[in-house]
Amino acid sequence: MYFLITYITIFNKTALKKPGMLIAPNLSLAFLRPQHKKYSNEKLQSFIDVESKEKEAGSEDFILCRQCLQIVTNKAERIEVEGSHCHTFANPHGIIYDIGCFRSAAGCGHVGSYSYEFAWFKGFSWRIAVCKLCLTHLGWLFDSQSNKSFYGLILNRIIDSA
Ligand SMILES: [Zn+2]
Repeated sequence: MYFLITYITIFNKTALKKPGMLIAPNLSLAFLRPQHKKYSNEKLQSFIDVESKEKEAGSEDFILCRQCLQIVTNKAERIEVEGSHCHTFANPHGIIYDIGCFRSAAGCGHVGSYSYEFAWFKGFSWRIAVCKLCLTHLGWLFDSQSNKSFYGLILNRIIDSA
């Protein structure tokens, strides 16, 4: 854990000096995964900021993490943002992501603080969203100052339950 915190601290300090190195919405969290495996779930839960909201009751149309099949959200939470549910974005490194927009995603935890760097949706800052269970990078939580927020989930990292 100490190593991980140190690593992130150094990374963030570096990022502050070099804005181009900030974790853009499209960057993979692959660099975090090997370290996560060393720690217990309790410690991991203390590391990520997990939403307290539980799974929506009564919904049968769940959307799952493709990696571990944990419930992430449900189909009723799909929304349109700027006129479309699906959006395709490329990051500064040319990595392309197809994302779907969801009102909420109770199965997501969050890593890091909000950033406006490379913001995809005008007026919205973003924060990395990971699967609560396996910590796979699932997408981003977008938030505006007018208290509107939504999730952009990477479509090839989630699957329908049915
Ligand atoms: Zn998962």
